[in-house]
This record gives sequence, C-alpha cells and structure tokens, in this order.
Amino acid sequence: MSFKDLQLNKTILKAVTESGYDTPTLVQEQTIPLVLAGKDVIASAQTGTGKTAAFALPILQLLFDKQMESKKGKKIRALIISPTRELAIQISQNFKTYSAHTNLKTMVIFGGTSIEPQIDLLKKGVDIVIATPGRLLDLHKQDIINLDYVETLVLDEADLMLDMGFIDDVTKIVRLCPENKQTLLFSATMPYKVEQLATSILKSPERVEV
Ligand code: AMP
Repeated sequence: MSFKDLQLNKTILKAVTESGYDTPTLVQEQTIPLVLAGKDVIASAQTGTGKTAAFALPILQLLFDKQMESKKGKKIRALIISPTRELAIQISQNFKTYSAHTNLKTMVIFGGTSIEPQIDLLKKGVDIVIATPGRLLDLHKQDIINLDYVETLVLDEADLMLDMGFIDDVTKIVRLCPENKQTLLFSATMPYKVEQLATSILKSPERVEV
C-alpha cells in the first residue's frame, strides 16, 4: 500500500515524500481512510507507530479541500489536545511540515510560559491549534479563543491525559466545541476509564488497533 492509495492529494503527498516517508505505517493505513470519511475513531497506538501523521495528514487534507477563509480571517477548525508541552510541540512541528505546501496555519499553546505571544498569534488567525488543556481553557476564559468552528477534535495520549488528572478539563473542552464535530481519540493503552471517556464523547466510533 502507498500513501497515494490512501487518497491523499498531491499537496499533502508532496510533503509526505519530502519527509522521507515511503510507505504508510499500519496505523496510518487503517486510520487515514476513516478520518477522510469523517468518522469518529478510537485508536490504540503507541508513540513511534506513526500515529501523529495518521491523524495530521487526513485532517490537513480535509481542511485544505474545504478552505473556509472568511473576511473575518481564519477560524480554528482543528484542535489537538495533548497532555504535555513536549508532545504538543512535536505534534505542531509535524503539522507544520505536512502543511508546507498549503496556506494552513498551525500554532501550539502550552502553559508555564508567557501568555502574550500566544494571544498575539491567535489574533492573527490560525486554522489548527495543538494545546495542553490548562492554558487552552485559560485563553478561552479570557475570551481570546473561539472553539465554535472546530470541525475535528483530537485527544492524543488519552490514557496519559487521564493519569495526569485532566479529565475535567478535557470534558470542558469537548463541550466548548460544536456538537457535530469529528472526534479522534488516541491512546497507548485502553484502560476502563479511557473506554468510558470514549463512550461519552465519540459517536459510533470505528476502532483501530495496532
Ligand atoms: P509518531 O508515532 O507519530 O511519534 O511517529 C514516530 C516517527 O515516525 C516520527 O519521527 C515520524 O516522523 C516517523 N514516521 C511517521 N510516519 C512514517 C512513515 N510512513 N514512514 C517513515 N517514518 C514515519
């Protein structure tokens, strides 16, 4: 199987080739078609399996195919929640690489650092936000961030997110996004509490296990 067989368009394929990826990994093979079809997905996949590209590539393609830049500027259309700043930075770097030939804008938001530069960037308008839960909610409370236009929400490392005590924050964030969004949940392990979260937020999800 090739990336082309996965119905990725030329713009995205070019960035994939430049990243040096030859063939899709198993989680990419299974996840990309489901995301492109608009399904909710629950995927058990560890770091190192290529799971970031498994959600980033189809999300970028969906956003690219349906450009929505209005006169009022860019809206946040994809939101990725990550438990740690390091992981959030890594994910945002991947999004930036894969979107190299599009005009889609990505930014990363995390706590423990000055909020002002993040506010400035948000005001300029972005399509994709990768965020840790606490700082995202802070910015929302300050009315700096609007999640009304989110089309796809990703919860990455859901097991770690729950272990770190983010359940209430995650639940709040899910509620701040529109009801009719697509939701993707990735987790290295699937303990009962992750299954419970998935049941409460995913709609008829497809399962991916690698
Ligand atoms: P991840 O599991 O998302 O953290 O990805 C692990 C590493 O695999 C990252 O360095 C990616 O750049 C790389 N990677 C992702 N997909 C592929 C692929 N299809 N072929 C080769 N490397 C890949």
